[in-house]
Amino acid sequence: MSRFKSVEEDYGKPLKPERLNEMIQRVTGWALLNGVQKTITGTEFPERIEPMPITLFPSILPADVLRKAKSLQTSFQTLIYKVANDHEFMKECFSGLLDADVFTKQLWEIYEKVTKEGPTQEVSVITTRNDFMMESTEEDGAKQDCKQVEINTIAAGGGGDANSLLNVHSAVILFVVDIPEPGTPDQRWLERGVFCLDRSIKVIYRTFPQLIMQTSFGENKELIVDGTEVAVVYYRYGFVPRHYPTNAEFKLRLDIERSRAIKCPTVAVHLAGCKKVQQVLTEPGVLERFIDDTEVIKDIRSTFVGLYRLDAKDSSKIITQAIQTPEKFVLKPQREGGGNNLFGDDLRNYLEKIKESSERSAWILMDRIQATRHRNRLIRAGLGPECRNVVSELGIYGVHISTPSLELENFECGHSMRTKPEEANEGGLCNGLAGLDTPFLV
Ligand code: ADP
Ligand code: MG
Repeated sequence: MSRFKSVEEDYGKPLKPERLNEMIQRVTGWALLNGVQKTITGTEFPERIEPMPITLFPSILPADVLRKAKSLQTSFQTLIYKVANDHEFMKECFSGLLDADVFTKQLWEIYEKVTKEGPTQEVSVITTRNDFMMESTEEDGAKQDCKQVEINTIAAGGGGDANSLLNVHSAVILFVVDIPEPGTPDQRWLERGVFCLDRSIKVIYRTFPQLIMQTSFGENKELIVDGTEVAVVYYRYGFVPRHYPTNAEFKLRLDIERSRAIKCPTVAVHLAGCKKVQQVLTEPGVLERFIDDTEVIKDIRSTFVGLYRLDAKDSSKIITQAIQTPEKFVLKPQREGGGNNLFGDDLRNYLEKIKESSERSAWILMDRIQATRHRNRLIRAGLGPECRNVVSELGIYGVHISTPSLELENFECGHSMRTKPEEANEGGLCNGLAGLDTPFLV
């Protein structure tokens, strides 16, 4: 079945140029009409939009791969929840890298303070997007399996079941954002979802600088913005160092963390989504600490590729291997949002530089996933629509609501697919080379 590589070439005929132009126009128009959009930044108009980069055709994906990735979502979410609530484990993961990573250390200090103080708000919401690439398990690509790239626990685009999150009825949901940013239309979809659930729930958008000016706290640690209590704080911002240019931003994050508002996510869950945790979870016996069901452990493990710490006694072996064959690895720091990982020559040069220094403990090495190649056309500025070799990334969305002692809700809620040219290292939708795609199940 999955010997098919292209919807256009295997199921139809290669397009004639005049038909291609017509299709591009229609598909682009459809994208605009249906809100598949991104904001154009750097103009004086905050609401200028353009269509999101997309593929012209859906991409072929074996149905059993999608089924497997979806079926594991609730287990992955339980895992993140348990990790975030296991202080000893968090310490084991992070203690070795804090001196080498100032940003993670500052988040860690917020986490330690609120952990010591105990929660003001017991309820916590996690929205995740678990990213996979597909690898062929047989020579001719006849069978594929999904391998985890990473699970995003902060600022993952996707929907939240906002209706069940409210405590005070007049309170609002606060979207912490950057204005303007390419992802604004994506956030508007979530606001629309909230509106469709219950028209009385108000969503407000604020940046960190606005919040620093407008935030106060009530007698019972209510988070108050512009005189209105915030029920839920939903972060689409605050995950990279440049979002915290001064101490005021870290202080704001700490204050919000200490408040009665429900955080999506808490700083603990933010940290639990770090690459370091992902790496430690692949070490022998670690999944067993959090999950009893051996079948689930086996399935989760089958999505892992090799992940390696660089600060172990025997790390020099894997470091040497990566320097010799950089094309087989990805070097990752504790960062989100794309553009931080090192590949190829950059990876080799950087490893040469840090291999003897303590700085290496801030990074992890990951086997490069040998993603199954197929063919599609990308419609995006700066890239022609010719039929090219591409690889796809599947994202599974989920929502998890809990208290420290109880999982209240845990469900998978959809998927997305991003497709990039085979030769691109990273493929962000807004900054990278990828186009939004949709699976054609076979
Ligand atoms: P970020 O948190 O910055 O999004 P990711 O770990 O998701 O970092 O990596 C960014 C991109 O780099 C991925 O979307 C994928 O395209 C590519 N990538 C990351 N890890 C791997 C890997 N192990 N093999 C192949 N490609 C990878
Ligand atoms: Mg990512």
